[in-house]
Amino acid sequence: MRSGLCDSCKHQKLIRSGRGSEFSMCLRHKTDERFPKYPRVPVERCPGYERR
Ligand code: SF4
Repeated sequence: MRSGLCDSCKHQKLIRSGRGSEFSMCLRHKTDERFPKYPRVPVERCPGYERR
């Protein structure tokens, strides 16, 4: 997975589809609508980033 910042962020959750594709989900989406559920990757800047 190459999602940029998300790959080292504690708010990332990796989702695997039935077909084996992997998606980077942002858990901040649940509490803050400014963050898309599936951000366009690679994410290079994010105000919500927190290192895992
Ligand atoms: S908070 Fe930002 S860096 Fe972290 S998972 Fe969400 S979009 Fe990615």
